[in-house]
Amino acid sequence: MKMYVGGKWLEKTDKLEVLNPFDNTVIDTVPRASMDDVDRALSTAAEGAKAIRRTSGYDRFLILKKAAELLEQYSSDLARIITLEEGKIISEARFEVSRAVQTLTLSAEEAKRLSGEMVPLDGAPGAGNRMGFTLRIPCGVVVAISPFNFPLNLVAHKVGPALAAGNSVVIKPATDTPLSALRLTEILLEAGVPQPAIQCITGYGSDVGDALCSDPRVRKITFTGSRDVGERICRKAGLKKVTMELGSNSPLIIMPDADLEKVSQAIVATGYSNAGQVCISTQRVLALRPIYEELISALSPQVESINTGNPLDEKTKMGPMIREKEAIRVQSWVEEAKQAGAKVLVGGERKGSFFAPTLIADVKPQMRISCEELFGPAVAVTPTGTIEEAISLANDTHYGLSAGIFTQNLDWALRFAREVDAGNLHINWGPQWRADLMPYGGLKESGFGKEGPKYAVQEMSELKMVVLHLS
Ligand code: NAD
Repeated sequence: MKMYVGGKWLEKTDKLEVLNPFDNTVIDTVPRASMDDVDRALSTAAEGAKAIRRTSGYDRFLILKKAAELLEQYSSDLARIITLEEGKIISEARFEVSRAVQTLTLSAEEAKRLSGEMVPLDGAPGAGNRMGFTLRIPCGVVVAISPFNFPLNLVAHKVGPALAAGNSVVIKPATDTPLSALRLTEILLEAGVPQPAIQCITGYGSDVGDALCSDPRVRKITFTGSRDVGERICRKAGLKKVTMELGSNSPLIIMPDADLEKVSQAIVATGYSNAGQVCISTQRVLALRPIYEELISALSPQVESINTGNPLDEKTKMGPMIREKEAIRVQSWVEEAKQAGAKVLVGGERKGSFFAPTLIADVKPQMRISCEELFGPAVAVTPTGTIEEAISLANDTHYGLSAGIFTQNLDWALRFAREVDAGNLHINWGPQWRADLMPYGGLKESGFGKEGPKYAVQEMSELKMVVLHLS
């Protein structure tokens, strides 16, 4: 596909191949953007910001609503693109498209709700004859940098609110998965987004990232991706508004009163979908000793039953990882844990970019599969003694994106919600659950700022204070 820069679909001789992670075949190529392309994208986006801020909230509502309708109309094509470029199974890809329809619909609704508030200035000493109110205005140019694992919906979570709030937006999709974002750009243009208000620039983040993030024409950066790239972007951004949606090694606490059948179902659903490549995947299961053995016996056959294969085949339950290199990394971390005394109960093998669904018991918190973000299809189980110990282990990480607990005990559940340092807390489900309307974002080094259109439009706009000095 071509990239969309400067109001045109651009071809380049310097191209990157987009590979199908299942069999490594080339499914398409995209241009490898240069510094000149960044400059063109940003100068056009600066014009675009002036054009789109003149549109009414109602116009932007109509455009985004139309885009959501078109997305729904083209949903089977889009699901296929997601599976081909990302490797997730086709049912998960269809679900991602349906979520992106939701995200754009919610964004459309927010376009009509950007409002300020009356400020009771007469409550300030000596300000009795003043009236005041706030005005919410767009930021201007928004740069949206997205990861590979949800190549459509995580782009929609940035572009939808950015446009709803009246900004122009420059999308930089993940290098491995640019096709869904390019298709979304086509759809947004078809729905009526003013041409200069959207750009989609493809290539390596390492080539164009610094130039995009340090440019003074940009007022807001919204980034989803790994912790280290996020930190680099913050350093380059300087005095810009920034939202950071970063990684995690999410914990799930299992108390002795948990329903182990439901727990096993939840771990399979939240630990292995998209081959574990979800920022809120269940990575660390912290199980209380009285149910530890029973949990492992209930869980092992369920993990064994996850079959892998061609993600386009409806019967496949788990596809490949994004690249063979990542599967090799996961394998080496699992081997390292095994050498240090952990027990690989299920899986552990690799074939190309496929890493088998893996369950590891007796994991120590300091093992890499526990203390770093694994981002692969392996779940690490650690025995714990008390709720205090479980909460302390859950918090023993620099991340804090999502966490879960299984218990019927209200005191334990609420203690977990109050004391575990994570942006999302799930009682009686795993950490991997998200509705697109909810505020979503991490604590600690999992980032700052919230997504979810209602919250993201606040991050993508600025507040002015207007004071009337009455005589
Ligand atoms: P990544 O950090 O490698 O890449 C993310 C994006 O940053 C890509 O578009 C990449 O091209 C770009 N990039 C790379 N170098 C850059 C630079 N120097 N400047 C600017 N941009 C640059 O992440 P990934 O491997 O695509 O995705 C996986 C990571 O994303 C995991 O850590 C995962 O937890 C995280 N993630 C977080 C959330 C969330 O909502 N918190 C959601 C999904 C994924």
